[in-house]
Formats: sequence, structure tokens, C-alpha cells
Amino acid sequence: MVAVLTREAVPLSRELPVTDNHMHLDPGKGEGMEAVKKFAGEGGKTIFVVSKLTRDLGLSGVNVDNFSKLYRATIELARQAEEHGVTAFAVLGVHPAEYHHMIESAGMERAKEVAEKALELAAEHIAENEAVAIGEVGRPHYPVERDVLNACEELMVRAFELARELNCAVQLHTERIDSEGLKDIAELADSAGLRRERVVKHFCPPLIEKGSELGIMPSLIASRKNVLAALEQGDRFLMESDYIDDLSRPGAVLSPRSVPRLTRRLLAEGRLTEEQVWRIHADNVERTYGVLL
Ligand SMILES: [Zn+2]
Repeated sequence: MVAVLTREAVPLSRELPVTDNHMHLDPGKGEGMEAVKKFAGEGGKTIFVVSKLTRDLGLSGVNVDNFSKLYRATIELARQAEEHGVTAFAVLGVHPAEYHHMIESAGMERAKEVAEKALELAAEHIAENEAVAIGEVGRPHYPVERDVLNACEELMVRAFELARELNCAVQLHTERIDSEGLKDIAELADSAGLRRERVVKHFCPPLIEKGSELGIMPSLIASRKNVLAALEQGDRFLMESDYIDDLSRPGAVLSPRSVPRLTRRLLAEGRLTEEQVWRIHADNVERTYGVLL
């Protein structure tokens, strides 16, 4: 009880940072800015708006122009989000599920050509400061044929190379990963010359010690169980809702309120200190992405 009283007696010196490292916004299928308002209403301060799939915009066919439209839409959503009192960063890439679909529908050669150009386009937006990172790229979370897997990995390495040139971060989407898998990714980053600290594993299990040891930054779904397991190992991680903003798939992921809510709850319970909140939601974010909050 004494601890609770002490916490309430000490006023917060600064307003606490709260960052959702991986959120999608889709005003066509979901709530768009209403989701941002929910996040901000719970005390959320910063979001990373990650591009969805071109088909989410109603686009069909395999061409770079679709990605150009997707990226512009994502950048515009991040801009609009800032009108609602949050800091928003756009993250642009070729989702592995989309790349798989591109390979199936247009063939390996054409898909490769378009996907690489799409990544180069993402890099141009980052160079123009319209976006901060490449993502999500990587490997599908479901089983695919060997050649598709290899192509995804090649594209991931291409993303790493572009990120090295820009000195920017990459958000990775992969199959369910373990310590060994994280190590493989660290080695792929090395092969492209990208600093491992720039690699963010989105939807990462609580492999905090391993992440610290390897240099990869884990981004954890903001579930209570996940974050408590992570905190036992340290505070070198990011938090995310992975909100997909699709009303036809309710409950598919956490709500846009989840990151600020869980953070406040754990803080109130004394499971998380203010110092850790600063580390997770500000320091880790600034260091990984090279941004100032
Ligand atoms: Zn995602």
C-alpha cells in the first residue's frame, strides 16, 4: 500500500511517452482516424503507420504504380493522424503476403522486378523524410514453397541493403520465430551491411535477452502476458497493437487502445516503472529509428 501511495503522491515530471510501433490504418475497410482518436484518447503519443497491401486499396495487377498509390496513401494517413495530436511515422514496404500473391499471379521474374522497384520507391520516400523505415518485409507467416521463401528472403536482403544506404530501420514480418531464427536474421543483416540495431522484429515473442545479445529490436504485441514475460528479461523492446483496421475482421488483432491502456495499467500496478516506460516508448524508439520524439 505504501508503494501505491508514494506513486500517487509523486506527480509525473513529464508527460509519459506511449508509442505503438506497428499499426495499420485503413479508412476504406476500417475506422481510419477514429482509431487514431482512440489511441490518443488513452494517452497514446506516437504511432508507426505501416503500409497495408495494394489490394486493400482496391488495386489489382502487379505494377509499381500500385505501390506508388499505396505509399502515398500511407504517408497521407500519417499526416492526417498528426492532426489528431499524435506524432506519426510512415513505414513503407512490400508485405510478404503481397509478394507471394505477386509471384503467383505474375510469375517470379515480373514479381521480383516490381517488388524491388517498389522497395526502391519506399527508399525514395524515406530519403525525402516522408517515411522513416522500410516495412513490413520478410517471410510469410504461413508455409510456402521453397522458391517463394527464397525470393522473400532475397527481397528482405534487398530491403536491408537499401536501409544500410539510408541508415534507416526495417520492420520485419516473419513466420513464428525463435532464438535461432533471430540469429539467422541478424546474420542476413550482417550480409547486407546493415547495423543489427536497425532491424525490428514485428510480432516478436518475448525474446528480450536474445534480442539484446544479437542486437535485433523485438516489437511485442501489447498483451499482458507477453509484456510481463518480456519485463522479466529487461526493457529493450518496443510495443505494438498490430491493429489491422478492418471491420470485417473484428477481434483479429488488438484494439488501437491496447498499447496505452496496457502501459498505464502496468504502471499503476507497479509492474512497470516510469523509467522503463521512457526506455520502451521513447529511448528504444529514438535509437532504433534515428528519430526524435
Ligand atoms: Zn502488419
